[in-house]
Amino acid sequence: MDHAATTGVAPEVLEAMLPYFGEVYGNASSIHTTGREAAKAVEKARKQVAAAIGAEPREIFFTGSGTESDNLALRGIAEARGNGHLITSAVEHHAVLRTCEKLRQKGFAADILPVDPRGVLHPETVENAVREDTILISVMAANNEIGTVEPIAEIAGIAGEHGIPFHTDAVQAMGDLDIRVKDLHIDLMSISAHKFYGPKGAGALYIREGLRLEPLTTGGMQERKMRPGTENVPAIVGMGAAIEIAARDREANRKQCRRMRDLLISGILDTVPDCRLNGDPENRLSNNCSFTFAGINGEALLLRLDLAGIACSSGSACTAGSVEPSHVLLAIGLTEEEADSSLRLTPGKETTEEEVRETIRTIGEIVRDLREMRFS
Ligand code: PLP
Repeated sequence: MDHAATTGVAPEVLEAMLPYFGEVYGNASSIHTTGREAAKAVEKARKQVAAAIGAEPREIFFTGSGTESDNLALRGIAEARGNGHLITSAVEHHAVLRTCEKLRQKGFAADILPVDPRGVLHPETVENAVREDTILISVMAANNEIGTVEPIAEIAGIAGEHGIPFHTDAVQAMGDLDIRVKDLHIDLMSISAHKFYGPKGAGALYIREGLRLEPLTTGGMQERKMRPGTENVPAIVGMGAAIEIAARDREANRKQCRRMRDLLISGILDTVPDCRLNGDPENRLSNNCSFTFAGINGEALLLRLDLAGIACSSGSACTAGSVEPSHVLLAIGLTEEEADSSLRLTPGKETTEEEVRETIRTIGEIVRDLREMRFS
């Protein structure tokens, strides 16, 4: 129940990766046969990623994570321009928000725009924030904590009208939504393989041809100098295979996840008193449910569920371990106490109805138990 944190590598993906740890272990920059084979595999993966998002292969740059792709997009544009103003939303991942903080320290301006109680950033809010010196608008395709899908087509349209590059963090959305970068006029898009049954440590940034970015690191010629460093060939191969499979199976996976998500939502709201769903009830990722259980400590609930063999998250895995209430839940208007009483459940393509029913029953029991302890 924690597929938003990460997913397991699909067997077909693992099979595609394995030769590149052994038989074909060459450095993709070497000119001998094994090197050329490794380079060929990287180029195949680039084509697979490009095909899945409607880009050209030369517009795909492999990175080491979604976090790195977000950093490269924001800092890359900022450093290429030298100064200016960035626009983003209050519900972005820390990879975007903390990068904006860093850029502010370096003298850039950044507006972190508010969202509505469902977590939606309204296009008019973006329009009103645009300045003469705005150099980038960055808005996520869908939220990793509450699942809300953002109106990125409209926001990209506003960016385009003003001639401002538009970046979207599609790390959480990629397996679920069919995002074609050219149709939506997206200039930069971050993705990460481990969210769609690919390996961890494999990310990519789509950079529209002609857009100038300053690389974060300097070194060799890899990734056309945009991301120097010897390529992680097995991970890149895994990402290519995973995105192709994700695109091929998207409709079937969505259908399955939606069924499990809707069972969870109705099951929990119907059986657990004083509980509510966070995020947009309609316009949300197929596998995301986020709940607030009044008077319950989300961490305690999570630990009890873990003991019962059910893995989930009390906010975002990326913020787990920190005692800070989730910035996303605060941004949609929850109090600190309510944010601390929240739980995220994200079933995956292999989740069964039996597991969902077991989860609903177990949550009901633990919530009752924790509430009784509180009032006894
Ligand atoms: N952006 C979003 C929306 C995410 O959900 C995550 C990971 O949870 C990231 C960025 C970071 O991706 P990675 O784990 O590949 O660094």
